[in-house]
Amino acid sequence: MTDDIYFTPLLPWQQLLWSQLTQRVLAPQQSLPHALLAAGMQGMGKRAFVWRLVAWLLCRARDERPLGACGHCESCQWLRSGTHPSLQALPLVSLPISADNIHKQQEVASSTAKDKKSTKATSNASLKIKVDEIRALQPFIYQGGHGMRICVLDHAEQMTIAAANALLKTLEEPQAQVYLFLISDAPSQLLPTIKSRVQQLALQRIDPAVALDYVTQALGSTVNREAVGAAAIEQLIQLANGAPLAAITLAQAPWYSKRALWLTTWQALRSGKRSSIAASDYWQNQLSIDEFIQLSELMLLDMRRVLLGFEALQKDVKLAAILQDHQPSDSGLERLSYSLQQTKIALQQNVQEKFSYDKLMQELVYL
Ligand SMILES: [Zn+2]
Repeated sequence: MTDDIYFTPLLPWQQLLWSQLTQRVLAPQQSLPHALLAAGMQGMGKRAFVWRLVAWLLCRARDERPLGACGHCESCQWLRSGTHPSLQALPLVSLPISADNIHKQQEVASSTAKDKKSTKATSNASLKIKVDEIRALQPFIYQGGHGMRICVLDHAEQMTIAAANALLKTLEEPQAQVYLFLISDAPSQLLPTIKSRVQQLALQRIDPAVALDYVTQALGSTVNREAVGAAAIEQLIQLANGAPLAAITLAQAPWYSKRALWLTTWQALRSGKRSSIAASDYWQNQLSIDEFIQLSELMLLDMRRVLLGFEALQKDVKLAAILQDHQPSDSGLERLSYSLQQTKIALQQNVQEKFSYDKLMQELVYL
C-alpha cells in the first residue's frame, strides 16, 4: 500500500455510503457514530473506503471538498509522510505509510528468496493486536481538547481477548472528537460485545451491474481484451463471491489460466498416462506450490458443487463433462482437501516445495 490509498477515486459502489456519511459530518448538529466497523470478505474495498474517509475527516479543507481529502494541506502532508499526530493504527503494519512500514518494505526488498518465508511468518504473527497495544492508545484517546483524533484497528478479529476487553472499556466511554474504525475480513470472529457497540458500515451490498462494469473496465486496461469477454467476467465475479477487487486479483493470478491444464493433469494421472513424479516436475516449472494450492482449492470447490447437483461455476473448462465420466468419492475429496491444508502448514515450517508437490500429485492419482 502507498499513500495513494488516501486520495484515489472512490469505488463506484461506495458512492452512496460516502455521501451519506460526509453529509452527516458536514451538517450542523450531526456527527458520525464514535465507533464504526468495516466488515466483510476481502476484495470489496473496505480498507480503501476507511483510509479515504479517515483522510477526508482529518483534511483541513474538508468543508469545501466533500468528495475527498485535498491532498495538499498540512494534514494531508502528514498522512503522506506517515507522521500524522491525530491518527493511530493497529496493528502497526496496517498504517498505509509509516516510518516503520517504509523500513519493513526495504527489508523485504533486500531479503533473499530464502528469507522471504520467515518474513511472511512474522508478518502474520504481527497482525495480532495485544492488550498492551490497546492500553498504549489510551493517552491518545483521552488527552482531550486537541481536535479530532482517529484510531484504526485493522484485522480487528485478531485482537486477543484481553485486548478486546480493554477496547470495550473505551467503546463504553466515547470521547468527544475521537473516532474508532474497526476493519475485519472475518467479523464472525469478533466478540459479540464489541460488535454490539460499533456501527457497521453498509459496504457489503454491491449492485451486480456496477461490479460487472467496474471489473470490465479494470481488466480491459490490463489484460488481453479477447481473453475477458462478458461471460468470463461474470464468472470471475461469481468465483470471487461478488467482490469486484477480488475478481480482478483472480483474473491476474498466474494460476487462474491453468485451470484446464490442472484437469488435464488430473486425468492423465488417474489413467496412468503420466507418473506423479513427471507431473510434479512439470508443475514445479509452472507455478509455485502456493499458487498450485489455490488452483487446487478452486477446482475442489467447484467439483463439490457439481457433485451436490449444482452447476459448475466455471463454464470455460470441461469440469462438468469430466465429472460425468468419473466422480471422485466424498472421502477422496476430503482427503485432497485435508492434504492441501496439511501442505500449507508444512510450508510454513519450511518443508521443501518439491516434496509437497510430489505428495499432492500422488493424491491426485487416486482422486
Ligand atoms: Zn487536505
